[in-house]
Amino acid sequence: MNRISWDQYFMAQSHLIALRSTCERLMVGATIVRDKRIIAGGYNGSIAGGTHCIDEGCYVIDSHCVRTIHAEMNAIIQCAKFGVPTEGSEIYVTHYPCLQCCKGIIQSGIKRVYYSQDYKNHPYANKLFEDADVEVKQVELDEMIIDTKNKEKLQFVASMIEKLSTVGVEEHEIKRLYEQANQLFTSYN
Ligand SMILES: [Zn+2]
Ligand SMILES: [Zn+2]
Repeated sequence: MNRISWDQYFMAQSHLIALRSTCERLMVGATIVRDKRIIAGGYNGSIAGGTHCIDEGCYVIDSHCVRTIHAEMNAIIQCAKFGVPTEGSEIYVTHYPCLQCCKGIIQSGIKRVYYSQDYKNHPYANKLFEDADVEVKQVELDEMIIDTKNKEKLQFVASMIEKLSTVGVEEHEIKRLYEQANQLFTSYN
């Protein structure tokens, strides 16, 4: 049995919620955790009920999309909305937080930031985190946990099996390989 670590579990959660993002520029997800419990999650998207970038394109000013609220802020605001304290909590983010989110994170009392990918890491954000005693640590997600390229992999394997049939591999063998691939890529057992 492969028991995944807490870090991988929460980071996977952030990658999962990032798939709900409505901005085409970058899909970001954030999960706020306290005492090993998820207290909020967010992705970058428009305000509730607002126009989505994926429907009408991004609203870009000075090379930034101004339509969206960032994942980290969405998660923090969710806590504010429902009266959940963020003091002393931790945040798992798919990308290194921008300056605005960095300040929001510090101000909300979050004590630890785990991020998966570097993203325009601003030295001032780094300094602010340091000065505020917020620990920042990179946690890369094990690609095997959330596989967003599953379909491409299946197509790749299918094209390889197809090639085998052109070099004389017997039909029943080809059929067996197809079945095996299908089983591996689509079954959870
Ligand atoms: Zn956008
Ligand atoms: Zn941000």
